[in-house]
Amino acid sequence: MLTNAPRGTKDILPQEISKWNYVENSFRNECLKNGFSEIRTPIFEHTELFKRGVGETTDIVQKEMYTFEDHGNRSITLKPEGTAPVVRAFLESKQYAETQPTKYFYNTSCYRYEKPQAGRLREFHQFGVEIFGTDSMLADVQVISLADDFLKKLGIKDLELRINSVGCPKCRAEYKEALRDYFRPHLNGLCDTCKDRFERNPMRIIDCKSPHDHELALGAPSILDYLCEECSEAFDDLKEGLDASGIEYIVDPTIVRGLDYYTKTAFEFVTNEIGAQGTVCGGGRYDNLIKEIGDQDIPGVGFGLGIERLLLLMEKTGASFPEPETMDALIITLGDDAKKHGIWLARELRSKGLKCDMDVMERNMKGQLKYADKKGYRYAVIIGDNELASGKCQLKDLKNSTQEDVSFDDLAEYLGK
Ligand code: ATP
Ligand code: MG
Repeated sequence: MLTNAPRGTKDILPQEISKWNYVENSFRNECLKNGFSEIRTPIFEHTELFKRGVGETTDIVQKEMYTFEDHGNRSITLKPEGTAPVVRAFLESKQYAETQPTKYFYNTSCYRYEKPQAGRLREFHQFGVEIFGTDSMLADVQVISLADDFLKKLGIKDLELRINSVGCPKCRAEYKEALRDYFRPHLNGLCDTCKDRFERNPMRIIDCKSPHDHELALGAPSILDYLCEECSEAFDDLKEGLDASGIEYIVDPTIVRGLDYYTKTAFEFVTNEIGAQGTVCGGGRYDNLIKEIGDQDIPGVGFGLGIERLLLLMEKTGASFPEPETMDALIITLGDDAKKHGIWLARELRSKGLKCDMDVMERNMKGQLKYADKKGYRYAVIIGDNELASGKCQLKDLKNSTQEDVSFDDLAEYLGK
């Protein structure tokens, strides 16, 4: 028990961290190139924020949140997603009073009490972006193209972009009725969650993951036949913008976000390569969300991208990762004077930007050399009394198995090459 991590959580061990650093740096670069600024918000928020910002009728709020009372009797919830906290921070800092739009990106852990399986964890990590302050489809196109560029740059080919419009509360009222009419004769056959959704949130039935409901949903009316003029024009603008940017997409009316705050654009990047949890990135427009959380009527658009699913997909499809960085040198010493010189030399070399280390296990010389070899150090810098006297160390190239004498003064430059 004590040596098992809680169910649904995963350590990211040093063996994997270079992959995480790689995708994190790539994401950051892509966002900075697009003029987004990083934002970090707390791991926990007032529970009410997510009830409002994610929606009372969602699976997240109904059954997935980690909620507890703190010692001051406040209801607190661990962040299940990234958008609501970012909206809260935007409102609290009155960023809306500055020149718009506001463009944020983030990299955060999220917490959802779900059934753990491949690509579904209780603690997972998301990249996300948001653009606040404009309802122009240019913003939607930028958000989608940022995700597309990021994913392509990682060498991922097996992803499909699926887009849809979920309309607005006006056009959805009629659509929801049409959906209820369609599902009503099949109500008894739906899964329990969907029986519940039928009244509260019938659009959610469309993205149910149970095979039976999914099959049935394929024949359901399409929201695209119910869009009002404004939403219909916006969807045309979106498609034109994506065409102009050269991004390929598939129009898929089953991509839905069941909440009233979500409007117009909905999109997902999906794959068949990693099993049932195939949505790597999901996003869309939420013109009524900010108003729901604060009292500012400000539109927004963004996405969340699951980092574990991204890495799963990259591993599964053989995408390449950079080699983990190796250490430049291990300083190997023989005798007390050499050891003292080694302590000084290690700091000196590090101050010049080199990655070097001493053996802190107090092994004998042979042991130190073996250690350097095993751990993949590029060079061994060998120092004993003779080397101290001559002012030159023995430098052993562990990759090419060659050796030469190098003066201490020239060492940093030599290793740097
Ligand atoms: P799903 O339909 O797979 O449950 P979702 O609609 O709940 O996804 P979002 O809330 O849109 O997902 O989150 C954005 C992204 O975060 C998802 O596309 C996915 O890549 C990732 N994600 C969501 N939940 C989990 C989880 N429990 N474990 C790992 N990744 C997740
Ligand atoms: Mg989910």
